[in-house]
Amino acid sequence: MTALDMCTKCQGTGWVLEDAGGSPVAKRCVCFSTRRQQALVEQANIPRRYVSCRLDTFEAHNDSHKDALKISRQFIKNYPAQDIGLLFIGPCGVGKTHLAVAIIQELILKKGANCIFYDFRELIREIQSTFTSDSVLSESDVLTPVFQAEVLVLDELGAKRTTAWVEETIFYIINHRYNHKKITLFTTNYPDTENDEDTRDAFYKRGGETLIDRIGVRLRSRIYEMCKVVEMWGDDYRKMAKQASYRF
Ligand SMILES: [Zn+2]
Repeated sequence: MTALDMCTKCQGTGWVLEDAGGSPVAKRCVCFSTRRQQALVEQANIPRRYVSCRLDTFEAHNDSHKDALKISRQFIKNYPAQDIGLLFIGPCGVGKTHLAVAIIQELILKKGANCIFYDFRELIREIQSTFTSDSVLSESDVLTPVFQAEVLVLDELGAKRTTAWVEETIFYIINHRYNHKKITLFTTNYPDTENDEDTRDAFYKRGGETLIDRIGVRLRSRIYEMCKVVEMWGDDYRKMAKQASYRF
C-alpha cells in the first residue's frame, strides 16, 4: 500500500468505529501502523542495496559470524531496554553492514523505532555541502534527524581520513547522542587490536592503520563507552592466521 492508496476500511482517516456494547468507539485502523512503518522505513535512509538485509538472510560461515548474529538478535529482543550500541569491527565483506541494517529494519518493523542509516563519508559530505552558498539545506536540516533518531547506524567509520574539522564534527554528533542516551551502531574496516602490523596487513590489507589512526583517540574512547565490540572475521581467517605464523 502506498500513501496514495486509500484504505477502504477507514477511507484514509486512520480511524474505524467499532461497536462496544451498543455505542460506537473509535479505534486505530490496521492501516495506521502499516503507514507508520512505511514512513519509518522511508526516513531510515537505507541504501537500496541493503534494503532486503534481514537477520534471517545473514549467512554465518564461522564462529565470529554466529556470535555476531546472536548478539544482534539479543539486541533486538532487549530493545528499548538496551543501553549500549554495537561496534562491528572486521574486514570488508564479512557482513557487518548487513547485520547493522537488519537490526534497524527489525526495530522499525517490530518496535516502531525511529532509525536512520548513514555512511560515514556520506554524512560528512552532506554536512559539508550545506556550507556552500547555494545549498538549499542547512546544517541543522542534515543533523536534526541524526541527533533525534532513536537508533543511528554509522557505516564505515573512519573510511574518510580524519581532518581536525571531520574529527570535531563527528565527535560533536556522537557526543550529543551519548549525552542523550541514544543508541548508535557502528561498522568499521579498521582493526582495533593489539596485533602487530604484519598480521593486521594480512587480515585487513590497510597498511597497518588502526581505528585510532583514522578517528583519533578521543572519539574512539567515547565510542567504546557507548558500544559493545563485535569482532567479525572473514572465512579465510584461519588460513591467514596459519600463514602468518609460518612466516617466522
Ligand atoms: Zn485504514
